[in-house]
Amino acid sequence: MTQTFDAIVIGTGQAGPPLAVRLGNAGRKTAIIERKRVGGTCVNNGCIPTKTLIASARAAHVARRGADFGVMLDAAPRVDMPRAKARKDAIVRQSNTGVTDWLKRAPNVTLIEGHARFEGPHRVRVNDSLLEAPQIFINVGGRAAVPDMPGLAEVSYLTNSSMMDVDFLPEHLLIVGGSYIGLEFAQMYRRFGSRVTVIEMGPRLIGREDDDVSQAIKEILEGEGIAFRLNAQCIALARRDGGIAVNVSCEEEPREIIGSHVLLAVGRVPNTHDLGLDTAGVKTDARGYIVVDDELRTNVSGVWALGDANGRGAFTHTSYNDYEIVAANLLEGGARRVSQRIAAYALFIDPPLGRVGMTEREVRASGRKVLAGMMPMTRVGRARERSETQGFMQVLVDAETEKILGAAPLGTEGDEAIHCILDVMAAGAPYTVLQRAMHIHPTVCELLPTLLGDLKPLT
Ligand SMILES: Cc1cc2nc3c(=O)[nH]c(=O)nc-3n(C[C@H](O)[C@H](O)[C@H](O)COP(=O)(O)OP(=O)(O)OC[C@H]3O[C@@H](n4cnc5c(N)ncnc54)[C@H](O)[C@@H]3O)c2cc1C
Repeated sequence: MTQTFDAIVIGTGQAGPPLAVRLGNAGRKTAIIERKRVGGTCVNNGCIPTKTLIASARAAHVARRGADFGVMLDAAPRVDMPRAKARKDAIVRQSNTGVTDWLKRAPNVTLIEGHARFEGPHRVRVNDSLLEAPQIFINVGGRAAVPDMPGLAEVSYLTNSSMMDVDFLPEHLLIVGGSYIGLEFAQMYRRFGSRVTVIEMGPRLIGREDDDVSQAIKEILEGEGIAFRLNAQCIALARRDGGIAVNVSCEEEPREIIGSHVLLAVGRVPNTHDLGLDTAGVKTDARGYIVVDDELRTNVSGVWALGDANGRGAFTHTSYNDYEIVAANLLEGGARRVSQRIAAYALFIDPPLGRVGMTEREVRASGRKVLAGMMPMTRVGRARERSETQGFMQVLVDAETEKILGAAPLGTEGDEAIHCILDVMAAGAPYTVLQRAMHIHPTVCELLPTLLGDLKPLT
């Protein structure tokens, strides 16, 4: 029997649940389908569990540095891994249960467990049921990429998902991939007490950042004892002496590094291969991302794609912003667009990197006249008081319009300080508004007016 709804939402990531609830509240009979755990990646094996474990790792780090602050411990701190994992599981459970209950209580919303697959542009099969609706919203997210590396089938490896079950301390964790996810795990496990080696194919870490940012991050992590092997062009895996060997180079010695466990952190792929998109006629690009317009509509009328699967963002906040755009346009007669948002994200190592707008490389390539301000964190009182003076803050300004083009605070509170800049950019205001605002002492943001008062042409 076919069940008819006003709307079907596939996936309970960061866009699907709020959209289903909004539609339900607006009186639209809505089905929301989830094949695994409600809340998707962020809640179950992404942002929330990693940031919870990062908090445990930071507690261990601060305890080890106790003497720097005059706090003396009688023995070296030790991380109880099952306990750290249990804390993580409890916090994840809270969020997972929260979203599930929210959906179950929402008026006009039916939560259905199972894998959804299109059987036509407006028809979806879940288990033995057929569902139909004039409007379908895809929020299927992504998963860890597992490329076809030589030897991978012979070894057991971890991904960000299976890392969530780890309740022991790997003796030597090899992390293949020196980008955002790999680096967060690298510092986390180093602070838990593992030896950690990061293996990266490129010549530097997080290649999308500016050179000085990549270099500073490498130095911060090396300072904690993390080893790096860059330019690893010949990656292959093999079992070796009860552990795992990762071949890193075809020529240079040493050619391989041996560890106890391997984590693959080499990117993400969208969950679009098993969705029946062909049957529905929904177009994807060469990498499997669903093609959408500026209002997140696919090429099929009445079908939208939100979140990581549309390739227009890879973050919780971009997915949630997709929901806000679609809901405003559908339910409030709005005209919101993806292109109106300013790119922003953070790398949650400690100290964190906040990023908004363009990088220095991008502004140089744009050919504009640019003013740049740079301040080492050693000049920031808040950083000195905490003995956390690593990093710097950089802001780039268009010399003609006086608008801020981009910023990268790498340092204590960098993930919060970035919002002082982001909000001025979102307001469309010139940098002088931020420069003239009175800020609270002692904070990281209080130094932004000083930094902006000393802008120099970018040469
Ligand atoms: C380790 C890690 C750390 C991260 N940290 C951060 C961070 O700190 N900040 C940040 O902003 N972002 C972070 N992210 C990214 C963030 O998790 C995602 O961008 C975010 O979850 C948005 O995803 P989404 O809404 O597209 O869908 P997802 O959250 O991926 O959810 C999609 C859901 O759809 C379900 N699904 C898929 N196919 C089907 C189907 N056919 N039928 C039914 N259900 C289906 C899936 O089971 C899943 O539950 C992190 C990611 C990882 C992996």
